[in-house]
Amino acid sequence: MKILVVNAGSSSLKYQLIEMDNEEVICKGGVECIGIEGSKISHKVNGKEYVIEKPLANHTDAFNLVMECLTNKEYGSISSPEEISAIGHRVVHSGEAFTTAAYIDDKAMKDLESIAHLAPLHNPASLACLKSCKSIVDCPNVCVFDTAFHSTMPKKAKLYAIPYEDYEATQIRKYGFHGTSHKFVSQEAIKYLKSKNLPYSNIITCHLGNGSSITAVKDGKCVDTSMGMTPLDGLIMGTRCGCIDAAAVEMLAEFKNMSTKEMTNYLNKKCGFLGVSGVSSDFRALCKAIEEGNERAKLAFDMFAYQIRKYIGSYSVAMEGLDCIVFTGGIGENGPVIREAVCDNLGFMGIEIDKEYNKKAPRGELVDVSAKNSKVKILVIPTNEELVIARETEEVVKSL
Ligand code: AMP
Repeated sequence: MKILVVNAGSSSLKYQLIEMDNEEVICKGGVECIGIEGSKISHKVNGKEYVIEKPLANHTDAFNLVMECLTNKEYGSISSPEEISAIGHRVVHSGEAFTTAAYIDDKAMKDLESIAHLAPLHNPASLACLKSCKSIVDCPNVCVFDTAFHSTMPKKAKLYAIPYEDYEATQIRKYGFHGTSHKFVSQEAIKYLKSKNLPYSNIITCHLGNGSSITAVKDGKCVDTSMGMTPLDGLIMGTRCGCIDAAAVEMLAEFKNMSTKEMTNYLNKKCGFLGVSGVSSDFRALCKAIEEGNERAKLAFDMFAYQIRKYIGSYSVAMEGLDCIVFTGGIGENGPVIREAVCDNLGFMGIEIDKEYNKKAPRGELVDVSAKNSKVKILVIPTNEELVIARETEEVVKSL
């Protein structure tokens, strides 16, 4: 069975065609600048990249171009669209309408439309892409939500202390994001721990990238996570401020003379590593600036490590124990320096990192960087969100 995974942004569309028999990626690519100047597709197959520049007015144009690449005689991978068994869509927000991956029939389409406002930058793009896919390829469409893995959070963890009837009327509460990543790496960790006859009940997964979030996974289920109603909450990130006192936002808005919309944009785009360091939102650039003696870059790094450590402490209490910490995402997988800073001096919690091995551990595979005497396992696991979307799509399609 071949499944096409698509991930639509407001002006972009990434895709992977996956053969589910061996879970191998047949080809992949991305369309950029949809609806704006400079639109193009980069299609990668058998180690080669094909770039086509072409005006693309909307997601339908973009998806038509994806299908042209997939079925191209020279570098395509399928001879006709019928070879695609299903399309799996990454959708950022599920609201309270969905708690698992969902087959998109007319009713589900209406439900999706009713929650589009919850993630105005992301969900409308997924809807546009979904409509294009439905009109161009005759196969089942399944939505896999970033929020779904977190739907098991108990109310005490997911509600904000606003009047209950306002929560009921607005669906405003903590949802959490990066769910497919937290799900994938926690399942991989459980497999690894079981194979070593080690305890696997209480796992903290740290997805650290441009956007970062931390999840407490008890017995395979999310019990708490750091992002909130939107992906702005929780940790300091590349350009996002993370947790901030709600009343301070009004003060800042007055100081900057900004509307609430402008303020939300500022908190999402101008803060985080970028705002604190004044250097960059990129972790590698931050590390380079630290080497050159930039104190504000060091401050941004220290805030990041400090906040991750605090989440590890609080989630250990939430789960009443800790068996394993997982690092994933661009920074978590490739940044030994942050893993060391996070785990340093936590011996009192049974957390001991092997500093030397952590520095030279191979990349692109599961590695165990815990010291021999560490009670808590410290793992680095490359995430694979597309594979989770493909697996869940397959499961839904098989159950139809
Ligand atoms: P992601 O959003 O998961 O793609 O992660 C992007 C972040 O990972 C950026 O801040 C990058 O600087 C960081 N990153 C990527 N590669 C490396 C690397 N080799 N060392 C340190 N950070 C990295």
